[in-house]
Amino acid sequence: MSATTARIPRGRQFFANPGPTNIPDSILHAVAHVTIDFNDPAFLAVYDRCVEGVKRVLQTEQSVFMYTGSGHAAWEASMVNVFSPGDTLLVIETGYFSENWAKMAGDLGLQVRTVAADWRRGLDVAALRAALAADTGHEIKAVCAVHNETATGMMLPLAELRAALDATGHPALFLTDTISSLGSLDFRMDEWGIDVAVGGSQKGLMLPTGLSFTGVSAKAMAAHTGSRLPKSYFSWTNMLTRRHKSFIGTVPTSLFYGLQESIRLLEEEGLDAVFARHARLAEAVRRCVRHWSGNNGPSLFCESPDRLSNSVTAVLMPEGHDAEAVRRIALNTFNVSLGGGLGRLGGRVFRIGHLGDLNEPMILGTLATVEASLRVAGVPHTPGGVNAAIAWLAEAAQA
Ligand code: PLP
Repeated sequence: MSATTARIPRGRQFFANPGPTNIPDSILHAVAHVTIDFNDPAFLAVYDRCVEGVKRVLQTEQSVFMYTGSGHAAWEASMVNVFSPGDTLLVIETGYFSENWAKMAGDLGLQVRTVAADWRRGLDVAALRAALAADTGHEIKAVCAVHNETATGMMLPLAELRAALDATGHPALFLTDTISSLGSLDFRMDEWGIDVAVGGSQKGLMLPTGLSFTGVSAKAMAAHTGSRLPKSYFSWTNMLTRRHKSFIGTVPTSLFYGLQESIRLLEEEGLDAVFARHARLAEAVRRCVRHWSGNNGPSLFCESPDRLSNSVTAVLMPEGHDAEAVRRIALNTFNVSLGGGLGRLGGRVFRIGHLGDLNEPMILGTLATVEASLRVAGVPHTPGGVNAAIAWLAEAAQA
C-alpha cells in the first residue's frame, strides 16, 4: 500500500481550517436543545443575553442586527441597508475576500473603486489617505476593509485606517469584515469608529455555520434612513418592528443556545487571554514555517511582519510544488484537514487555521503532520520545524 492511499480514519480528525472551526463539546451539547418557541419567555431571556454578549465581543454599545445565513448574508445586509443605487464604495484590496465583497457590491448596483495593494505586503495606508484626499466632492460613501484576510493570513490595522479617514476629514462610512477576526483578534468597533461590522458564527465564536450579524453605528443607522437599495429580508427597518429587533421569520433558537455557551466560554477565559492564546499559537506556527523555509522550503505568504494574522497562516509552496498534493496527503493519510488556496492562490498555498477552540497539542499535532506530509509529497524543507514550535511554546509557558 502506498503511503498516500486513503486509510480508514480513527481518532478525532484534526481540523485546522480557518473556518468553520472546531466546536467545543459544551457548545455541541448546548446546540442540541429541544425545540422551543422563539417567543417563549425562557428563550427570549437567552436571546436578549446573547445580543448583549455579541455587543461585548464586538466592543460596541450600538445596534446589532442578526441574520440566518453565513457571512455573505451579513455582507449583503451591510450594503443594502446603507446605500442607494450607484453609490460609490472604496474597497481596500486584501485578497480573495475583499475581491468577493467588491464583486457583491457591483452585483447590487454599486460603483466600486479599489485601493490596490499587494496581497503579500498589504495596504500602504498612504494610498488610502491619498484616495480619500483626492475625493474632494465626497463621492465615496464608504470605505470597506476586511480586518483579517483569511485567504492570505494578513491583518489590516483598522485603527490606522480610521486615522486616515479622520486626517482627511472624509465623511465616508467605515465598513469592516470581522468574520475571521472576531473572538480571535482584538476588534474594537466603537473605539475604532467602525460604522458597520460584519461577523459570522463559525470562526472565533466556535459555532456551527448559519448565524451572521452586523454591528451598526448611529451614523450607519442615519445612512440607512435614506438608503434606496431594495431590501426586505435584510431590512433593518423591518427588523425593528419585531420583538427580536432582528430576523425576519423563524429565529434559529438552537444556535442561540450555542451562542450563549460561546459567549460564556470567551468571557470565562477573558477576551484578552483569548487574544493572547491566539497570538501564542500563531507564533508557534510561524516559527515552524520559517524553519521549514530553509532549503528552499515552503514559506510564510504574508511578508509584512507587523500584519501577520493570529488566526490563520497561509503557507506558500516552493515553485513547482502543488499545495493541493500536500493537503490531500494530510487529509487522506493523516486525517488533518487544512485550508486550501483561494482564487488565484489555488494550488500555491495551503492554510493552517489556528483560531477558535484550540490548544498547544492540537497545534503541535497539526504542524508535525504537515511536516510529515511535506516529506511524503517530496517537498523540499528543513526538517524539524516542530522543534522550533515546541521551543517557542515552552518559552511562552515559562514567561
Ligand atoms: N469574509 C471573510 C474574511 C471570510 O473568511 C469569509 C469566509 O471564510 C467570508 C467573508 C464569507 O463568509 P461565509 O463563508 O460565512 O459566507
